[in-house]
Amino acid sequence: MILPKSNRLTTEQLAEVTHIVEEFSCRIQPIVGAVRTIYAIVGDERDELMIDRLEGLGYIDRVDRIQSPHKLMDRRSDLATHRITLGGVMLGEKLLVIAGPCTIDPKNPQLCYETAHAVKEAGAHVLRGGVWKPRTNPYSFQGDVKSLDLLLEASRRTGLPVDTEVMDEQQLKFALDAGVHMLQVGARNALNYSLLCSIGRAVAERDTIVLLKRSLHMGPLNEFISAAEYIVSFGNPNILLCPRGTSPTLDGYRNHPDESITPLLKEKTWAPVVVDPSHSVGKATYVPACALAAVAYGADGLCIEAHVSPNQGIGDDPKQALTPDVLAETIRQAKQLWTLTHPVKAR
Ligand code: PEP
Ligand code: MN
Repeated sequence: MILPKSNRLTTEQLAEVTHIVEEFSCRIQPIVGAVRTIYAIVGDERDELMIDRLEGLGYIDRVDRIQSPHKLMDRRSDLATHRITLGGVMLGEKLLVIAGPCTIDPKNPQLCYETAHAVKEAGAHVLRGGVWKPRTNPYSFQGDVKSLDLLLEASRRTGLPVDTEVMDEQQLKFALDAGVHMLQVGARNALNYSLLCSIGRAVAERDTIVLLKRSLHMGPLNEFISAAEYIVSFGNPNILLCPRGTSPTLDGYRNHPDESITPLLKEKTWAPVVVDPSHSVGKATYVPACALAAVAYGADGLCIEAHVSPNQGIGDDPKQALTPDVLAETIRQAKQLWTLTHPVKAR
């Protein structure tokens, strides 16, 4: 829908606009109002170049799109009936809980295994654990491929599927070859379109699930949903959207908590929303409240950092990880709240 700056386009302007849209196999249908005329674009109006060329005309105020720029992720897409199941949970039917350490310590396998058992005992369905870590400081521990064996061994010992972050093609290959069930795209890489394409291509023929974190620098929701569209466009629709706090930070919290975008995401897309309260608030004492807020906002799942002994952990664990007892209580309360927010489906 083209909205001119003036009440209507002149004959010359209408001819120019018509010429542009015809290049993209569309046509113009004027809609004449009492005061103002607006111009509908009839046809597939998703081509960015067409929109940019129209918006570049000095006499055009703006172009509003009726069609969604992310056709697969859109709520009205055929994929809206797609269901994702992991760890015995069908998303939307039951609250999914992913939990585990921020970072797996390759020198301390026992801590990884004990944490895996503890999060299972606390009620988690999926074990998370960072093998490779995106660290702000280049001298901080960057992760170690040896941790991949520990993660998979923890999966065998507990029966829990596992989730880990990959940041490049080599890590992606290692993770898939090892049998990781869920790949995490971290906040720093959620805008790395070539990585999103590599992941989409690599999981196209598999049932792997991708947990896409929201970037710290994503503004409009379309940016987040379009990042998911990149992955899904290769053919695997197993995608979970993960708000994890954004910029600018809120004084006292690690990031600006953004679980409140959950209902907005659900209005635009069918994809399940799994909120990460840990990176959002960044301190263990605030995590349970943020997790419950996420459920109140309608989240389908939670991704929570947890550790049997946070102070012995590495990465974010000393600050952020919940102990197993706090995790268990948080999950118990979250499930209870879920029964209130999902009265029909609650079990
Ligand atoms: C993590 O999950 O440990 C992590 C680094 O997450 P994010 O990309 O959200 O910072
Ligand atoms: Mn972390």
